[in-house]
Order: sequence, then C-alpha cells, then structure tokens
Amino acid sequence: MRDRAQTVIVGAGVVGVSAAYHLSQMGVTDVLVLDQGPLFETGGSTSHAPGIIFQTNGSRTMCRIAQDSVAVYDSVSLDGERCWYGVGSLELATTPERMQELERRQGYARSYGIDGTGLLSPEEAASRSPLLDPTTILGAYWVPTDGAAKTVKVVAALARLAEAAGVGFEGGVTVTGFDLEEGPGARRVRRVRTDHGDVECERVLICAGFWGPTVGAMLGVPIPLVAVQHQLVWTDPVPELEALEGDTWAQYPVVRHQDMSLYFRHREDHYGVGNYRHEPIVTPQASLRRPGDGPMPSLMPWTPEDFDQCERETGRLFPALKGRMRPEDPARSLNGMFSFTPDGGSIVGESARVRGVWVCEAVWVTHAAGMARQVVEWMEAGEPSYDLAEADANRFHPYQTTPAYVVQRGAQQYREVYDILHPLQQMSSPRNLRLSPFHPRLEELGGRFFVGAGWERPQWLESNAPLVGGVTHEWARRTGWAAQGWSPIVGAEHLATREAAALFDLTPYVKLRVYGGDAVGFLERVCANRIDRPVGTVVYTSMLTSSGGIRCDLTVTRIDEDSFLVITGGGSGMHDQAWLRRQVRDGEDVTILDGTDRSFCLGLWGPRARAVLAPVADEDVSNDALPYMTGRELNVGEVPLFAQRISYAGELGWELYGPIDMGRGLWDLLWASGREHGLIAGGMGAFDSLRVEKGFRLWGQDIHTEHSPLEAGLGWAVRWDKDFQGKEALEAARERGVAERLACMTFDDDRTVVMGKEPIWHGGRVVSYVTSAAYGYSVGRGIVYGYLPVDLATEGAAVEVEYFGERYAATVTAEPLWDPKGERLRT
Ligand code: FAD
Repeated sequence: MRDRAQTVIVGAGVVGVSAAYHLSQMGVTDVLVLDQGPLFETGGSTSHAPGIIFQTNGSRTMCRIAQDSVAVYDSVSLDGERCWYGVGSLELATTPERMQELERRQGYARSYGIDGTGLLSPEEAASRSPLLDPTTILGAYWVPTDGAAKTVKVVAALARLAEAAGVGFEGGVTVTGFDLEEGPGARRVRRVRTDHGDVECERVLICAGFWGPTVGAMLGVPIPLVAVQHQLVWTDPVPELEALEGDTWAQYPVVRHQDMSLYFRHREDHYGVGNYRHEPIVTPQASLRRPGDGPMPSLMPWTPEDFDQCERETGRLFPALKGRMRPEDPARSLNGMFSFTPDGGSIVGESARVRGVWVCEAVWVTHAAGMARQVVEWMEAGEPSYDLAEADANRFHPYQTTPAYVVQRGAQQYREVYDILHPLQQMSSPRNLRLSPFHPRLEELGGRFFVGAGWERPQWLESNAPLVGGVTHEWARRTGWAAQGWSPIVGAEHLATREAAALFDLTPYVKLRVYGGDAVGFLERVCANRIDRPVGTVVYTSMLTSSGGIRCDLTVTRIDEDSFLVITGGGSGMHDQAWLRRQVRDGEDVTILDGTDRSFCLGLWGPRARAVLAPVADEDVSNDALPYMTGRELNVGEVPLFAQRISYAGELGWELYGPIDMGRGLWDLLWASGREHGLIAGGMGAFDSLRVEKGFRLWGQDIHTEHSPLEAGLGWAVRWDKDFQGKEALEAARERGVAERLACMTFDDDRTVVMGKEPIWHGGRVVSYVTSAAYGYSVGRGIVYGYLPVDLATEGAAVEVEYFGERYAATVTAEPLWDPKGERLRT
C-alpha cells in the first residue's frame, strides 16, 4: 500500500468512489481510497441498496443533486452492462391528503427542473405498473426519469475510470486513527493510521457511511448520525413476471406507497418490497461490526414481526405478491442499516475543528454521485456550485451533536421519512431544550411555540385573540394547507406592530464578538459593505464567496475601536460562525467569541416604541441622540443594555441586548411602560409577514451562495471603493449584467396566499420558483418573492404561481411594498 497520497478517502461505498471519480475527472489523481471491506461489495449500505431513485425533493439543492446523480449513473457501464434503468416512478395516493401532497410534489419538480411529470388516474397508473390493483388507490404522481441503479456495478464502473486515471484503491484496510499537527488557527490532519501502515496526506475525505461517527471521533469531529435498520424483502418468483422478455433487471416503474411508508421495485421475476413502517431499530456505534467471516456488517438479523403490516398492505395493493413475501432463502429478507441525521440532511464540508478533514456523510444512492461532485468542487475550487448550507457539516449547534439528541431525532426522521410534513409542523420531542428569559412570560401570554435552533419560540400568542375582533378581511378565514400552523392572530399581531408596538423575543440570534488588533482589517476583507465607520455604527452587510455569491448576511456593529458585535440568525449562526473562523488568516490578531448563550435579545418595534422605551431608559433615545443604524449602551432600571436601532419589521425600534439572567426584569419594565401605548408580545408568524412586506431578504431562502448581491437587490450594501472577498467576481458580473433579479410579486386576487417553493409560470412555461411567501396584512395582498429573468422582473409584468395544481395570477410590483422610503425606520 502507498505510504502517502495528497487525498485519502475513507470508504469505498457509492459516496467515496463517486468522490474519487469526480476528483479524477478534474485531474486530481494523487488520491487513495481505503475500505475495511472487500472491493466493491464492501459490506456497507451500498452493498444491498436496491438503487431506487426518486428525484423529487422539497429541497432545490437535493432535487438538482439527484438529477445530477442520475446523469452520472446513466453515463457509465461495466463491461458493456448498463448500470441505470430509467423506468420511471409512481408515488401512490390512498388518501385525499396524499393526493394533494402529490400535486405539491409535482410543483417541486416543476420548480426545480424535472420535466415530463404527471398526475395519473388509478387506471393510468396500473397501465404502467400492471401488478398494481387500481381499485386500491386514488391516483399517482408519475416521474418518467426516475428509476433504479445497479449500485455496486455503478461503484465498480466509476472506480475503474478513476483507477485508470491514477487513483489508488485498497480493500481490507481499516483506518484506525489520524495524526494531527498543531497549526496557528486550528489543528490540521497530516497522517492516516491503518492496520496496514500509515499514509501521509494533506487532506482526508470521510465517506464511511454509518460508521462516520466512529471515524469522526478519531479526529474529535462530531458526525451526528445514527445507523437505523431498514427492512427489504426480495419476494419469491411471481408467475405474472415469468413471461417478461429482454433485459428484465427492471422493466416496471419503481413505486412508493407513502401513506404506509413502503416502496416496491420490479427485478427480473420478482419484486423488492421496502418497509419503513415499524418502530426504528437503532444500532449504537459500539455495536457495529467490521467485515469478517459472518454476514455483511450492515446486515442485522431479520425481524419478521416488523414485516406483518407491510405484508398485508403490499398484498392489498399488489395481489400477485400475496404469499410470496416470506421467502425461504434467508438472504432474500434483510434488515439493512443506513444513516439518519437529526434534521434529515446530509453532512458535507470541511470540519471547522480540524483543517483538511472533509466529510460527505448521510447521503443516499439517490444523491451520492451528485453530492460527491459538490464536495469535490468545494475541496478543489473553494466553493461548491450549489448552495449546500442545508447540508453544511458545521451547521449543528452543540446540543444537536449529543448522542441523546442524535438518536432521538435520527429515529424520528426514520419514522417520518415518507410523511406529509407541513413547513410549520413541529417536532413533539425533545422540547424545552433552550428557553429564553422571556419564555415564562410568553407562556403566560398563551404562546403557541415552535422550535428554532433548539429555542422555544412563539408563532403567535393566544392572549392577542381579542385583537382579531375587528378584522373582517378574507385573510381571517384562511383554510386548508395554508391554515395549518396559522391563526388570524398572526395577522392581528402584524397590524398591532404597525399601529402601536410589539416585543419580539430574538434571543436565538447568534451573537458573536469579533475583536483584536486586526479585527477591522479582517472584517473589511470579508464584508462587502464598509465596516470601518465610527464606533456605534450598525452596518448591514453580505459576506461573499470568491465567486461573488452571498455566503452570509448579517449586521456588524462597531462597539469599540477594535471590537465588533456580529449578529446573525439562529438557523444560520453555526454555519456563519464556522465560515467566519475559517477566513481568519494565520498570524491575524482576531478573536471570535460566541456570546449567544450569555445574552438575550428583545426586539421592541412599532411607531409607539419610543414612547415605551423613553420613560424607562436612562439615556436619550430620541432620533437625534440615537439615529437609525446606530447603537449605544443604556440602562433600563438595573438592566444594562446595548440598544441598536434596527428593525426587521420595518418600523421604528431597537434590538435590545443584555445579560441573559436579567431578561425577565427588562420584559416586566417595558411591559408596564408599554401597556398604555398598546404594546403587545408578537410571534414569529407576524415577524415573517412583516419582513416580507418590507422586502427584507431571508438567508437560505431569498439569498444564498448561488446569487450575488446584484441579483438579490442588495447592491446598495456593496462598497465598490474598497477591497473585499468576491469583489473581482462581482465586478465582472456587474460588467456582464445580471440575468436574473429577485422580484416582488403580489397576487391579483387579494385572498390568495401560498407557502413557498411553488413554481412561477410565464408564457406557458415555468420560469422560476417562490423563495419567500407571506400574506402582507398591512397591504392586504398575498406576496411572493422569486428570481425572475431580468426582462420579466419589471413592474407590471404578469406571472402565475402554481399552488396545488392551480395557477394564480400575480403581478411584479415595485418594492418594498411597505414604507418604500424607509421613513418609519428613520423617524
Ligand atoms: P457505505 O456504502 O456504507 O460505505 C461506507 C464504507 O466505509 C463502507 O464500505 C465501510 O466498509 C467503509 N468504512 C467505514 N469505516 C471504515 C474504516 N474505519 N476504515 C476503512 N473503511 C471504513 N438509497 C437510495 O437512494 N435508494 C435506495 O433504494 C436505497 N435503498 C436502501 C435499502 C437498504 C436496505 C439500505 C440499508 C439502504 C438503502 N439506501 C437507499 C441508502 C443507501 O444505501 C445509503 O445511503 C448509501 O449506500 C450510503 O453510501 P455510503 O458510501 O455513504 O456508505
């Protein structure tokens, strides 16, 4: 075995080998792939995956990655044997709710570029899948380009191509540890230790499947996933399939019956029946086996009792399979293991803890080749071409990497794998993990809580129900999907914020202190806006990738000559923090401290906000003394605060930061002062509609690495007269002119409201998708945002938004809809 390689890949499953293949395609061949098992039936999950691919996904990134994977699988063959069977797929509906969900899923497909999909009648579905009894279903969703891959053959074919280019593969080699080197910023990997000797390297890519946490632990890198057992039965031969001719490896569409968490796949003269319909069986890392004489380590003892329900339901839908699902050959019934993460996402990217350690974990066959390409681009070019924030290996808050949380949430992801999940649906456990000091008061006020970054946050507060009294508008009668996780109280809180004032608990914001002799220069380099401004200035800025895409979107406040407060969202916080730390250069005097858990944040916003704060503050809070986009220290009673004049609601007001143990005291003082001014407590439902109406972009939805500030309408926050990361690419984009622009659209019918991600139509074709959606209670219209071709992103242009299969007329509108001159913020 070689004793050095620039890149060592741990794991020769479909993910590791795909990564090696993509590296070799880029001309990077000083690569060694190691696997503890025999090549390429290593005994990992890939070895027995039936290779089924359903590309449709609510995530645009994952949907495109699935399409890319299919393209790779379709492009390779092994000794003339094809590896991909594009037989199409059927997702069945047996309930009206699922039928509706299938319409929504077709919307995702249209939004994200899967062509030719259709909703079929039961008879049309059965004509494509002849063993299916049409009387058992209400309809089906058809995707002609889905299908099944011969997974192990794909792996062997990709490996052969990589090997021909110079990549090395070694089976039967177990990685046992790593040697790290202390570096100025962080430790760095230098050597991989194995049971066959050491390998010097510059970087490592961990593709160890469900062994990931064990390999990560050797490096001190948390990889929060659990191995969950999943049942698959290859039935006995089915007489109805015996007469099939030609290549019978797969001729009928792959099928999902999500109402019962089952899937089916034709192979030769029999079917594969997959079952998620049982309580999750989690295998702890310490109990995982290594390859040896026994069965493959990813195979666990068959648990027949878990298959009963699946067998009954399968027999009902596919009568020909009845009596054939308990094959005598034990090899045809398996409990196989694969990875589930706390949020269902993959884990991809360079670890923030050890430089040179890359991870590509919790990836299905469906996404393997596409995701491997992304991680390899990231390793080679510094950025992947798709926005991978949702898969970022550094996105997890510390509580999300604890074994208790990982097991509980991973098991729940298994249970919900095929469920209809509303975007506002809440997890039932674990709850109350992170409680802000305002939580008891919000509870007393009837908060309807959801979880954001582990914090309990109110969506609305029942105590505000009397405010709904006078509202007669149609929006107060919202029904169906759009009414789930919603109450007319949301609208009432929105209006009360615009008319009087509201307190919003913003404690989940991630609060970073960036300080040191080089802090100004560092922030000037990574921020597109000017940071070197007088102490007390609040700056809204993007931080860009080298290609000019928006990596982070946050505020930076100068609190001292060499000290800054960087505020970002709870959801984006860990991602932003890891990225920011990675930008610090060797020798730079910059320290980044996370003060999130020590400090609360309370938003006090609305035209009466000053009337609420002024009587209890010990400093002048007039517009002259504390203008918009400035901050200062002040006290309310005994509570020392840092108050910054900024508002995501688009109203006069402040974000108030203070010691977390004193938050309740502040709340009570403001509450007492505010009652006569109509002060309410507001929930996050109102918060979101306020920000959409005001046109404030949301990171991860409206803005991400695939769009520049120019396309996002944030060019005003770019300072061209200074140097900053990504400037060159942004200047080039400015020269070229942008092709798309983020546009605001309102529905022509003032009762229409959608939820986000829907396809946007123009001229009979889909031109984009909805990035943000809300009802604008002050402007009395449903609002959507989306990137449109520049020709279409002009005021008055007509588009249509598809929602559950219907198209609704909308018009491109000047933005922001609310207070376009920003006078309310500046008064
Ligand atoms: P693996 O294939 O598990 O590869 C990881 C490799 O790392 C292993 O070969 C292992 O030996 C090696 N390794 C681990 N630790 C070490 C070490 N210390 N030293 C050296 N080597 C090490 N997905 C789909 O998209 N469609 C499907 O139809 C589908 N069906 C499935 C059915 C079943 C029954 C199962 C179990 C899974 C299914 N999946 C399916 C999921 C899919 O199989 C996995 O997500 C995918 O194969 C994971 O690939 P991988 O390369 O990450 O992991």
